[in-house]
Amino acid sequence: MSFASQNFSQEIVRALTECGYEKLTPIQKQAIPHARRGNDILANAQTGTGKTAAFSLPIIQQILDNSKQRSRFNVRALILAPTRELVAQIAKNIEDYTKYTDISVEAIYGGTKMSSQEKKLEKGVDILVATPGRLIEHMELKNVSLANLEFLVFDEADRMLDMGFIGDIRVIMGDIRTKPQTMLFSATFSSQMNKLAGDILQKPKRISV
Ligand code: AMP
Repeated sequence: MSFASQNFSQEIVRALTECGYEKLTPIQKQAIPHARRGNDILANAQTGTGKTAAFSLPIIQQILDNSKQRSRFNVRALILAPTRELVAQIAKNIEDYTKYTDISVEAIYGGTKMSSQEKKLEKGVDILVATPGRLIEHMELKNVSLANLEFLVFDEADRMLDMGFIGDIRVIMGDIRTKPQTMLFSATFSSQMNKLAGDILQKPKRISV
């Protein structure tokens, strides 16, 4: 199954061709149609399965379909991941997928200067990829607003819980007043994970690869 047959815009298909992607991976085949329809998703998936494209391509397409002026400090899509390496990798992939669009993507994580991240956030960001702790620091300083959030992704959610991010996740969720389309990806499911999924997902489509 090709990406063109999934009705992705020409600028996305062209970028994917340059990435060397020809066919959808199994997780992409399962997740993309549901995500394109706006459903929440609960996915059991390991790393290396192509899950980054599975959650980000539908978000990119929906942002292209409904383009809006960027507003200062605002974010349209938030992707949370446990480590700076993973955040950087996801942001790099999304930059590759959006290279022929005007969608903006930023990565924020701890261990680097707040000030340079602050400048990027001020202009408004379409897709923000972040570790939970650093995002909260910026939220507390009012450097970023989730008031207009439309899409929310938890990647490697089990690792986020293992690393003790549940309190941070609850703080972030407490700040979201919109009802974003939410997707949760995890390699394992504990009772704590099921509780989190039950709290944040609305009638999710379940996917397993
Ligand atoms: P991920 O699980 O998102 O980290 O992806 C694992 C690797 O597979 C990355 O190097 C991706 O660039 C690559 N990849 C993702 N989707 C596809 C695809 N449809 N065809 C070929 N490679 C892919």
